[in-house]
Formats: sequence, C-alpha cells, structure tokens
Amino acid sequence: MTDRLLRGQFPRHAVRFAVCQTSSLCSEAARRHQADWIAGWLLSEALTCAALLSIDLKHTEKITLRWMYAGPVGDILADTTEDARVRGYTQRVRLLGEAGTLAEAVGTQGQVVAITSLPTKVVHTGVTQAVFQDVAHDMAHLLSLSFQVESAMTVGLIMPPDEPLHLRSAVGVLLQPMPDADLEIFESMRQQVERPDFRAWLEAEPRPLEAVLERVAGGAMYEVLGSAEPAFACSCTRPKVERVLRMLDPAELQDMLEKDGYVEVRCHFCAEAYHFGENEVHALLRQSASGHA
Ligand SMILES: [Zn+2]
Repeated sequence: MTDRLLRGQFPRHAVRFAVCQTSSLCSEAARRHQADWIAGWLLSEALTCAALLSIDLKHTEKITLRWMYAGPVGDILADTTEDARVRGYTQRVRLLGEAGTLAEAVGTQGQVVAITSLPTKVVHTGVTQAVFQDVAHDMAHLLSLSFQVESAMTVGLIMPPDEPLHLRSAVGVLLQPMPDADLEIFESMRQQVERPDFRAWLEAEPRPLEAVLERVAGGAMYEVLGSAEPAFACSCTRPKVERVLRMLDPAELQDMLEKDGYVEVRCHFCAEAYHFGENEVHALLRQSASGHA
C-alpha cells in the first residue's frame, strides 16, 4: 500500500482528524534498524503516531516524541516535520526471547515526553506518566494533559513475523475536538477508536483510509482538507557527522583509528553508517587542530 496521510474534519461533530497509512515507512525503519518483530511493532506504532501528529505542526516546526518504558524495549523515539518526514528508533532492537509479548516489552511503568520545537527554540515540552502501556494511547494521554489538545489516537498494524519485517498495513487515526465541539460527542468518538474491536478491525486486513473514515464517522459526513505522503527521512548528512567528529577530543579519534584502522559513526535515528578511512580521519584531525569547524 502507498503511504498516505489525510487530514480533515467531521463538520457536524466539530472534530478534526488525521488518518494515515504508513506501512512503507515503517517497513523501511524496521529494515534499517534490523528490528525483530516486537521492536519493529513498537517502532512502527511510534512512527505512525509521529506521522499523525505532523498535522498539528506549523511551517518549520517539529515534534519529538519519546516513550521511556521501564520494560526491555527501553526508550522509543520518533520525530516528524510538518510535511510528515518521519524518523525514529527503539533503544533495543532485539527483544524476542526477553519479552514474549508487547506488554512485557513495554513493562508496567514509564514516562512519555513530547517536545515541539522551531529551528532555534523549544516551543513546548510535556511529560506524563505512561499509564496505558500502549504507545498510541500513552501519547494521546500526554497531548490531552500537557498540551491541552484533547486527543484520541489508535494505531493498527498487520505485520507478519518473518524477517526482514514487511508491514502489510499500518493505519493510524487521530481525533481532536475543535473549539466548538460537543465534548460528549468527542468522548464517544474517542471510545469508539480506542476500543479493542476497532483495532482488531484495522488489523484484520488492510483498510483503505476512506473506509476507516466512514467507520469512524458512523454515517456522518467527513471533509478531507489536505493530504501528504509520509516518508521515512533523516536529516543526517556526512558534513554534519564530520562537524561532530571535529568537536571530539583528537586523542579519542586517534584511539579509534589505531584500534580499527577506520572510524565509523552510525546515526541513531536512521542507522546510516558513515565510514571514515585513515586519510579522511587525518584530514579531520588537521582541521580540528587548526580550529576549523
Ligand atoms: Zn540519520
């Protein structure tokens, strides 16, 4: 399925929505990080949440989401730009054997953090306890409490266990009431999308986004106001990595070079490996010695 994100509203209920299909971007992330089924599932949920939340962002704004679970998965991180360029990782990528279920991987405690930022400043930071042990519901809870944006969010995945992981479907739904919304109606829509049977329906077979909207609307009209193509995208570049290496203690670079004969830096977010041979490292050392940054 092609990755797609639709945003719009249910005019009668004064509720705005985002729905997305992110199976390609999640498959790409799982492949890059060599995640096993459990880590790949949790990462895909986080990336889909990030894609949905891109609709809340203004131009050049970014949101960074972090789930800090006490279970074996540890931290899960995802961020997105306003045009749904999404990236992320889990602290641990091989969890099978240590955790038998998603709930075990997440554990029973944790915290959730969300940070919106512009290129030069942090706009808002929110932190709450993880009370649901569910990636989407924990983040919706944080937005409702700390960002004062009532939010309902659900993610449904279809992901066969064979590696390399390939998702057949990754659907996310986000609902937020508009200022004139009837909060009782919003509450009933929230309950509907957060119910296990709605998720089971999303996970039974790939659903077109229009079918998802019809089911959420329950016969009411919906209006699509915009669309985007979410994609896995990282902002790391070789020049950026070189800048970081030039800031390291030259002795540390020299040590790495002597030990391995090269220096390799792997980006946390996208797992891209940047390889620097002996000559390149010497050039970097000369530049840092001359104060060139
Ligand atoms: Zn990267």
